Amino acid sequence: MPDLPAPLPPGSTIGVLGGGQLGRMLAMAAARLGLRTHIYCPEDNCTAAQVADAVTIAAYDDKAALKAFAAQVDVVTYEFENVPTDTASMLAQDVPVRPGARALSVAQDRLTEKNFMQGLGVATAPFADVTDVGSLTTALADIGTPAILKTRRLGYDGKGQMRIDDTTQASTAWEAVNKQPSILEGFVDFEAEISVIVARGLDGTTAAYDPARNDHENHILSLSTVPSGYPETVEAKARTLAEKIAAELDYVGVMGVELFVASGTRKLIVNEIAPRVHNSGHWTLEGCTVSQFEQHMRAVAGWPLGSPQRHSDATMTNLIGSDADDWQQLATEPNAGLHLYGKGEARPGRKMGHITRISPKTSA
Ligand code: AMP
Repeated sequence: MPDLPAPLPPGSTIGVLGGGQLGRMLAMAAARLGLRTHIYCPEDNCTAAQVADAVTIAAYDDKAALKAFAAQVDVVTYEFENVPTDTASMLAQDVPVRPGARALSVAQDRLTEKNFMQGLGVATAPFADVTDVGSLTTALADIGTPAILKTRRLGYDGKGQMRIDDTTQASTAWEAVNKQPSILEGFVDFEAEISVIVARGLDGTTAAYDPARNDHENHILSLSTVPSGYPETVEAKARTLAEKIAAELDYVGVMGVELFVASGTRKLIVNEIAPRVHNSGHWTLEGCTVSQFEQHMRAVAGWPLGSPQRHSDATMTNLIGSDADDWQQLATEPNAGLHLYGKGEARPGRKMGHITRISPKTSA
């Protein structure tokens, strides 16, 4: 095994692409370890900048700004998966970028992602490449309905997707995804959605947190619950799957793996991966000694990973839009960690904060 680079000592600077709440919580976790953060984001007044040591406000294709940023940081990571690949490769010429290019390319394109999973022997929904109405019609004949048409790139929280219940909807669906290269996915009959937050260090060590059970409202995560309620055999399979995916990608950092639990059989089917800290892992801030955010910073800085051991049961509720207006009431709750992201306007559907309620651990 080649010699590993030395861990970055306290006082080193981690560059973070993206300035949302995930970047904010990464910066706060880094500070606990004496590490600095430099946020790079195109928007003025981003929420991560409020708690970071340094900020660059520039476009992701601003070569001069990227060069200057790379010169000021010791490693670069990111808090969203749609970092342009050119940006990542430009930075990688000057400074390590973790997680690396492979994870980004797999996670940015649903077709590449599905093919990757298939190559690994990991179950996914049946899928087909869709490039026009003709290929969509063929795919619908093969896969059947209901099915979901999803753009290959840039979809999130249910955006860039359309459910198809009848083959006559082919051209409407193709219009609905703006004729973008897409995949058709067969509809998975699932009884629950769970996710695993897995970390992989520079030395290849992995650490997976307990799976959370996730509930959504309007396609947006609303509640994560740990323990998931599934037996240890199912949870262990989910953790092993996530570790296998991380190892295959030679991943460094924290990754979220979203899974469906098939109705009845409880077979695990991968929905998608996120090459970053994940909303369904926010509970680790109160439920574990080392949170997903600290774990990510440890990994990208080449530090040993912390234990993913959970010390409490937890529920994490997202505060969406006006939910956060109840902050005074929420702040009175015992055994609850309230997080407000410092965002200005509470638009509908905007993640404004979250609250994690903990209770004594009920399962091993
Ligand atoms: P995604 O953007 O792929 O995470 O999808 C958003 C949500 O749509 C998921 O969390 C599921 O609730 C639902 N969904 C996505 N794909 C499928 C599928 N193949 N079968 C059933 N439900 C799905």
